[in-house]
Amino acid sequence: MEKKDDNITAMCKPAAGEAGNTGDWRDLTPVIDRAKCIVSVKNRMVCHLCWLYCPEGVVKAGIPVEIDLRYCKGCGICAEECPAKAIAMVTNEEAKR
Ligand code: SF4
Ligand code: SF4
Repeated sequence: MEKKDDNITAMCKPAAGEAGNTGDWRDLTPVIDRAKCIVSVKNRMVCHLCWLYCPEGVVKAGIPVEIDLRYCKGCGICAEECPAKAIAMVTNEEAKR
């Protein structure tokens, strides 16, 4: 039986892939500028607000921060919450350049 987590109340944990493979229909793609990202600049496990706020649980809180675009829906919450303005939401065509 799965251990009960007392820190979880009315909210639930996001799980990558719950919305399906969104890479097919996403309009905008988040692109991280590592020259601005606090984690990359400091080379430390700090900030990670993009990981905290992503509703799809597709941001990997490592060094560097990575986003699993297979399941990102392009909502832009990570870009809104980033204190360093290190995430730009760009068109899928721009992201491929
Ligand atoms: S745009 Fe950002 S917050 Fe939204 S699903 Fe993608 S990684 Fe998560
Ligand atoms: S919120 Fe912005 S500065 Fe913080 S880890 Fe994410 S990309 Fe880096």
